[in-house]
Amino acid sequence: MNSKKQYTTEVLKNLILDTMNNDMGIDPEHASDEAYYQALCLVVREILAEKQKVFSAHHNAQAKKRIYYISMEFLMGRSLKNSLYNLEIHKEAQAAMEQLGIDIQRMYQLEPDAGLGNGGLGRLAACYLDAMATQELPAMGYSILYEYGIFKQRIIDGWQTETPDYWLPGGNVWIKMKPDRSVAIKFGGRIEEGWEAGHHWTNHVEYTTVTAVPYDMYVSGYDSEGVAVLRLWKAQSPGFDMESFNRGDYVNAIGQSAMSEAISKVLYPNDNHTEGKVLRLKQQYFLVSASISDIIRRHITTYGTLDNFAQKNAVQINDTHPALAIPELMRVLLDDCGYSWEKAWDIVTRTFAYTNHTVMSEALEKWNVDIFRNLLPRIYQIVCEIDRRFVDTLKDRRYDNYDIDRMRIIYDYQVRMANLSVIASQSVNGVSKLHSQIIKDSVFHDYYLLTPKKFKNVTNGIASRRWLYQSNPGLTNLLNDTIGDGWLKDLSRMEELEKFADDSAVLTRLAQVKQENKLRLSNYIEQTSGVKVNLDSIFDVQVKRLHEYKRQHLNALHILSQYLYLKDHPNEPFIPKTYIFGAKAAPGYFLAKQIIKFICTLRDMIEKDPSVREKLRIVFLENYSVTISELLMPASEISQQISLAGTEASGTGNMKLMLSGAVTVGTLDGANVEIGELVGENNIFYFGMTAPEVAHLREKGYRPTDYYNKNREIKRMIDMLSCGIQGQTFPDIANNLRYDDHYMVLADFDSYRAIQNKASKVYEDRMKWQKMSLINIAKSGYFCADRAIMEYARNIWGMQL
Ligand SMILES: *Cc1c(COP(=O)(O)O)cnc(C)c1O
Repeated sequence: MNSKKQYTTEVLKNLILDTMNNDMGIDPEHASDEAYYQALCLVVREILAEKQKVFSAHHNAQAKKRIYYISMEFLMGRSLKNSLYNLEIHKEAQAAMEQLGIDIQRMYQLEPDAGLGNGGLGRLAACYLDAMATQELPAMGYSILYEYGIFKQRIIDGWQTETPDYWLPGGNVWIKMKPDRSVAIKFGGRIEEGWEAGHHWTNHVEYTTVTAVPYDMYVSGYDSEGVAVLRLWKAQSPGFDMESFNRGDYVNAIGQSAMSEAISKVLYPNDNHTEGKVLRLKQQYFLVSASISDIIRRHITTYGTLDNFAQKNAVQINDTHPALAIPELMRVLLDDCGYSWEKAWDIVTRTFAYTNHTVMSEALEKWNVDIFRNLLPRIYQIVCEIDRRFVDTLKDRRYDNYDIDRMRIIYDYQVRMANLSVIASQSVNGVSKLHSQIIKDSVFHDYYLLTPKKFKNVTNGIASRRWLYQSNPGLTNLLNDTIGDGWLKDLSRMEELEKFADDSAVLTRLAQVKQENKLRLSNYIEQTSGVKVNLDSIFDVQVKRLHEYKRQHLNALHILSQYLYLKDHPNEPFIPKTYIFGAKAAPGYFLAKQIIKFICTLRDMIEKDPSVREKLRIVFLENYSVTISELLMPASEISQQISLAGTEASGTGNMKLMLSGAVTVGTLDGANVEIGELVGENNIFYFGMTAPEVAHLREKGYRPTDYYNKNREIKRMIDMLSCGIQGQTFPDIANNLRYDDHYMVLADFDSYRAIQNKASKVYEDRMKWQKMSLINIAKSGYFCADRAIMEYARNIWGMQL
């Protein structure tokens, strides 16, 4: 039944009152905002749970293929507003709360973000749950119930400081414990093995057990019967270690339980970087062992056999972080179910599909063999056997030792997770056209030659409705008034807006919408930092994790050059600009933290200078998160996507900004390439080297020192970094740029400055700018996650649709 018809204002109001009176034991007359928030969320969660039951009964009856998306990260953000909008009961809920004397906006604000991810990779997983529910695919996401999500960032004297994100007090209303689905996970110990009647047997002994307890979160589709489940595993001690307890070793018994529970304590805060820590490996195996066990239980319950497992299940692994699911499924099939190696391998290699997210070497996971073998002795044996058999097939094909060493899984005392993932998956995909080509040409070239059909592309997509329908009411109304509301379910229909590209009334209204959104953001900026920004300035935005490859320092250097220009030419005309940054640095990434300090130092220098600050200003938004992005994207005019070509696999921030009408200033990297193909080169500002040019320059030998020596302006700025700005020196940034500059900031600097100047010039013609903006909006429907998910369903998961 349609939620909208079922859950009227009256029904919702009564459900909320019942929940308060009966479940929470609170008198609504004297209830706090927090109590109302709790009650409202619980009501919505039960509506979602009910809808999910109906949906799963429906697809179980049809014996549809099930989709499992395993990811160490799901950057969910808030759920309340998303759920109400997707259920299409937001107006009813607002009215119900109003009758109870509560402003629903206040309820939205009370919710903490579920920040169970770092950046783009985690947010992608969250966007895909929304899309899979909307497309009515029977989907389940699996991850870890981190007690502490991504840290909260505060900037103190320009330095990032981290505080723990203990999100559960406000967030646990969204998760429902399923204790009867708990599973036991084994770590450590050793393997006994032998032969008996021509059969190889193994026995895992002296292991430690940790219990994985699932908690479910529901994501409703929009205008659909679908609901996706996110199953989050929490680590629990399997009870007291009774043996120590009986020996009177009370302290050790408790200590053991604390060690078990450490597994789901905290999200590792690294983006595009691996640390190789034992606890991280424990987390990975904990996630996949629990998930594989759950997937198998669900399959057996329906079919009673695993023979048809690969026909009825598709498992997508989000980067290599969950790649241990591959040997884990082998283990269960071999040791627990008695399949032969050949039969088990056949099932496994038709089940898994792997999404690659990066080609940068520091992000490729490699585990030290000793760590791996000690923690996961049986899994290690299985990986060795996969490796041995793979090497044999290469030898049969007359590969030489050099090629074999490069392609095999275990080499140089390391277990290489990307190699394992490629070898065992039926599909390997990149996340933009360019990135998918690069992995075929470079990191996975050997495998591409071996199995070319395995390699695919699915360009990323975003949950467009979250950033438009839910976050940009002005633009939503404009779209509804011009092209109707069909675009909400089929985002490709946003293209119909292009008909209005020369309609000055529509362009004027578009400009008004942007102005309102800028005002809303500027109020937030004033509340949080006390600065009143110039609403007539261009809002130029770079928000994403802080990383050298994303080149926030290129942006900062250019701002410094503009500052110097304004000081030298105080009377020249200048189009005012507000540069907005948002970026968390990994806590152990020193240079990234220095770059934040550099940006904040520039900000303070400008702020002290009344002759400059109305023309040029920097805002650093603290604690960039999904929720902050929802406020920020609608107010943005320039989207900075300035990674070194060939380094950003796709980017999704670029898509969110385009959707709100921001025009991209970017390199030909990741999905920027496809954005340009869609809007046309007159509606995007490209600069810098292309990926082949970067590769060529690297091969030739890139010498940043030459730029320092030959370019007076670059020299002046780098010298300022060394000698001090506002009494602050940045020797590490200066030396890095001068002597290393791995991401070629100096090589792209002139081209970047030229394009920024061009963008400012174009902005002077407001109607021309609005037209560019409109075309960007119109073409952004392609980047909806609904489209991306249908490509996965058709081209990778082999769904009958
Ligand atoms: C979309 C998003 C990202 C990804 O941004 P990129 O620019 O693609 O790196 C990171 N963090 C948050 C909070 C996001 O919403």
